[in-house]
Amino acid sequence: MTTFGFAAKSTRCSWLFFAVPLFALIQPIPGADPSAKPPGAVRIVELRGRVVCLAEEMHRQYSAELPTNHEHLWGLKTQDGKTYTLLRGKFSEAIFVDERIRKKELVVKARLFPDTQVIELTRLRSVKAGVTQDIFYYCDVCAIESVSPEICSCCQGPVELIEKPLKESSK
Ligand SMILES: [Zn+2]
Ligand SMILES: [Zn+2]
Repeated sequence: MTTFGFAAKSTRCSWLFFAVPLFALIQPIPGADPSAKPPGAVRIVELRGRVVCLAEEMHRQYSAELPTNHEHLWGLKTQDGKTYTLLRGKFSEAIFVDERIRKKELVVKARLFPDTQVIELTRLRSVKAGVTQDIFYYCDVCAIESVSPEICSCCQGPVELIEKPLKESSK
């Protein structure tokens, strides 16, 4: 019995000895995957163009399916014919809720995400008769300016859309 027990233990030990280096071999080596590439950098861009519904634009250009009563998908089409998808956020909110903004020529500053045409606005301006305009919403009662067309955060009253030629100093 003693001899058998020793033999069994010895077998298990040699299996473990063999298994450890095999296990080490199948571990992935960090950075060795040739298909993995480092994530690209976010670029800050300034774009000038007009708001389009991407669904309608793709329908017009490439006959993409356009369901009746579709939900508009807002994007920015620049002068060079490129189209960007707009993420909804603080600085793009006005585009999504105010039709008047969508009819204007716009100059935006945005973050363009790597390997995409998706942008997140960080500034929204318009162009009127060739002149860049500061664009904001204003509450007369509280004298508060805001980038979003919601009701005044102070008095809950209505806000007015203001377009003002950009001052040279703030360009
Ligand atoms: Zn649409
Ligand atoms: Zn107010």
